[in-house]
Order: sequence, then structure tokens, then C-alpha cells
Amino acid sequence: DISKGYILYLEDINVSFDGFKAINNLNMYIGNGELRCIIGPNGAGKTTMMDIITGKTRPDSGQAWFGQKIDLLSMSEPEIAQAGIGRKFQKPTVFEQQSVFDNLELAMAGDKGVLTTLRARISGEQRDRIDEVLETIGLTDHIHRHAGALSHGQKQWLEIGMLLMQNPKLLLVDEPVAGMTHQEMDRTAELLKSLAGQHSVVVVEHDMDFVRSIADKVTVLHQGSVLAEGSMAEVQNDPRVVEVYLGE
Ligand code: ADP
Repeated sequence: DISKGYILYLEDINVSFDGFKAINNLNMYIGNGELRCIIGPNGAGKTTMMDIITGKTRPDSGQAWFGQKIDLLSMSEPEIAQAGIGRKFQKPTVFEQQSVFDNLELAMAGDKGVLTTLRARISGEQRDRIDEVLETIGLTDHIHRHAGALSHGQKQWLEIGMLLMQNPKLLLVDEPVAGMTHQEMDRTAELLKSLAGQHSVVVVEHDMDFVRSIADKVTVLHQGSVLAEGSMAEVQNDPRVVEVYLGE
């Protein structure tokens, strides 16, 4: 809902690697509670853009604001995570030897070593939050299973749950449905849609059917800039977009 303002402003961002312009005057605005999909051919700058938002890559120039006041370019990666930006990479990185519950508890604590001491001290409120997240990610019935025994899709949802334990305002999700079955993809679509509103969600995804099924708005990146933006129907009929994808 744009009337509630933007959660993320990227303005005139430029990034070069050894003289090669990976990001070229990028401007992007993500609304509060929006579910945005970023598409674009390989090398378009999608990963670099995510790296800028999380502080992994510093742009050569430009501005990046989180909400109205937080200047992302003056912050370290941990500070940005702390401020409420969570990122999920393509490969799930759950603790395979630990239960689903413990994974969520660890994500809340942020440190594996504190698990045993934490167990005794977890508050009712924290327990409720874990239950709520379990419900959201659809793993309530798997609470005691080892994460290593989950399906690929379930691991991905667990990792999204682990991010949710940190209460991020903005979630960045990298190719969530790669390697998933159709059923898992449908479930993931429902999950991401249920997160929007409460959170702002930015998804980088190659699967166009999936993008069509979830996105409020799609941004097409090409050569480090925004080539087109709008509904999936709008961007897929844009002749510039058609040309870029046919040329791939
Ligand atoms: P995408 O995620 O859309 O495939 P990337 O952001 O990974 O695109 O890459 C954009 C361009 O920048 C590509 O041409 C890539 O080769 C280049 N690039 C990305 N990271 C680096 C780096 N660390 N060093 C050199 N070139 C890079």
C-alpha cells in the first residue's frame, strides 16, 4: 500500500566491478507491505542489487534509504540485519542436526552456543512466537523432526521461518522455488503472499509462472537498470522486455 509510504528507496545507484558497470543508475522504490518480484536475464544485476541492500556491496554512488530515516550506505551488514532487513539465499542453510523447533529458537537467539541455556529461559511470549511462525510456515506437525529429514521445500520454509524469528520489516528472497515440486511451489506462493502486508517482500525469481502467481508488481532489470515495471501482464507485453528475453 503505497499510501503508507516506502520501505526502501534506491536512488541513482551505480556499481562497477573493474570498470564494468554492474548497476547503472538504478532507481527503485518498494512500498510498505508490498510483494515485489525482480526478474531479468543473467547478469542483469539482481544479485548485486540485493547485495547493496544488505550492505555486502558498497555502491560507487547513489542513495539507499530504509524507511524515511535509515541510511543503509552508512551501515555495516550486521547493523542492516539488526535494523530489520532479512535475506534468504537460494540454498537453505538450516541446522540439519537440530529439530525444527530448535532451528527457530536458534534463529531467535542468533547464536548456536546459547541453545541449552536458552531452553530454560525461553519466555511464554517467545514460545508463542515460535508457534505462530510454525503455523505460518506450515511446519507445526514437524516441530520435533530433525531439519535434515525435511523435504527440500520444507527446509526452504523453515529458513523463511528462521528469518521471521528476527521480525524483519523487509525480506529479500533469492529464487525461493528453484528445485521445488509444483505442490511446494503453490505452498510457497501462499506463504510469501501471507507475509506481504505485515512485511515487505522482494523476491528474485526466474520462474515466470511463479512470478505471475504472486507479484503485485514486477521490476525487470537489464544491464543494471530498470527496463520496465508494472503488473506481470504489463511487463510481459512490453516490447523491450520481449526483446531482452528473446535475446537470451
Ligand atoms: P544477476 O544476479 O542478475 O545474474 P549479478 O548481479 O550477479 O546479475 O551480476 C551483474 C554483473 O556484474 C554480471 O555481469 C557479473 O558478471 C558482474 N559481477 C557481479 N559481481 C561481480 C564481482 N564481484 N566481480 C566482478 N564482476 C561481478
